[in-house]
Amino acid sequence: MKKPFVTKRQLEEIAAQYPTPFHLYDEKGIRENARRLKAAFAWNPDYKEYFAVKATPNPAILKILREEGCGVDCSSLTELMLSDQCGFTGGEIMFSSNETPAEEFELAAKLGATINLDDFTHIDFLQQTIGYIPETISCRFNPGGVFQLGASKEGFQVMDTPGDSKYGFTREQLFEGFKKLKTMGAKRFGIHAFLASNTLSNDYYPALAAILFKLAVELRDETGADVKFINLSGGVGIPYRPDQPANDIAVIGEGVRRAYEEILVPAGMGDVSLCTELGRFMLGPYGCLVTRAIHEKHTYKEYIGVDACAANLMRPAIYGAYHHITVMGKEDAPCDHKYDVVGSLCENCDKFAVDRMLPKIDRGDLLVIHDTGAHGFSMGYNYNGKLRSAEVLLREDGSTKLIRRAETPEDYFSTMIFD
Ligand SMILES: *Cc1c(COP(=O)(O)O)cnc(C)c1O
Repeated sequence: MKKPFVTKRQLEEIAAQYPTPFHLYDEKGIRENARRLKAAFAWNPDYKEYFAVKATPNPAILKILREEGCGVDCSSLTELMLSDQCGFTGGEIMFSSNETPAEEFELAAKLGATINLDDFTHIDFLQQTIGYIPETISCRFNPGGVFQLGASKEGFQVMDTPGDSKYGFTREQLFEGFKKLKTMGAKRFGIHAFLASNTLSNDYYPALAAILFKLAVELRDETGADVKFINLSGGVGIPYRPDQPANDIAVIGEGVRRAYEEILVPAGMGDVSLCTELGRFMLGPYGCLVTRAIHEKHTYKEYIGVDACAANLMRPAIYGAYHHITVMGKEDAPCDHKYDVVGSLCENCDKFAVDRMLPKIDRGDLLVIHDTGAHGFSMGYNYNGKLRSAEVLLREDGSTKLIRRAETPEDYFSTMIFD
């Protein structure tokens, strides 16, 4: 069963201080998870996680992760600016972007970030934009076709279609690109790939690692490039549904180590460092959206109207994504009512749950919508004039801290031009 990381009593106290809706984050959970990840890859001395800022772009969260030894993975101008402001410097910043505007390359270079190129044509674009090719450079690989993992022990299959995705160099372009970059002054190379999202399998990273490790050996042999690091990127998933098994990061780290020892070590490449750019795995389970039931409606279906809407959490509306819901104080009550739990947007997709069996919900009940710590608040928007919510941190000592205030109407009007 999925359990919230706060009790009803705690949450009522927090909600008395910060009006619902708000996103709540669990510092203890974030730190423990970051330590488990670090331990899983401790066999690779220079291993580093570059947290994907887009998942949860909040200074307090980034600072916690920095204290746990993480860097950041940025993909836009403001993410670079945010990381800079949070104290990340040079090698702590990865810049993995696509369709990159010139000003973003300029800032990335100025900050000394490691630039991960998305396309062959970006080699010349980068040279023309910043006037040189950095000595350390990375390229994103897209193997094309379909990426498939057979059913894992847990019975889940992983399938994605890199051939349909806009990212990365083809294999041929990667070989050409490394040669070209070398002649332009690059000395240290990285390889990056992101083949599947939200994978629930301990086999994804090891399978991806084997592909990239073999590629690294071939690239070195054919181009003479000095491959310094391999970036497994994001994609390790979390169980959004209560019946799904969680990934075991220790098993994943061990699987990657086996591939490393089978492929890189015998090729004389046992000094290659690894990095990851996890977002969802780092934060997803350690955040929730707290909302209150404010209406109940009985028509052709039973509706519970809450004070949050898709503008606070978009995943259910755009992907039909499942997010578990706990009705606080009714954890042990029978789930004998079928509800659509809905927000107030003038869009019928604004539903956090459809035909969900839940305990009887009364107006005023606090609802916890689980696993919103990554790609939750950050995907928010202002449709229907809805304002972005606050973000609150539950600290390790049980106290809370406001880490982002809620938007006000003044914020909403601040970009409008009234003539
Ligand atoms: C989104 C993204 C990530 C993080 O993905 P998760 O699924 O949150 O782990 C990492 N790297 C890049 C380049 C991304 O675009």
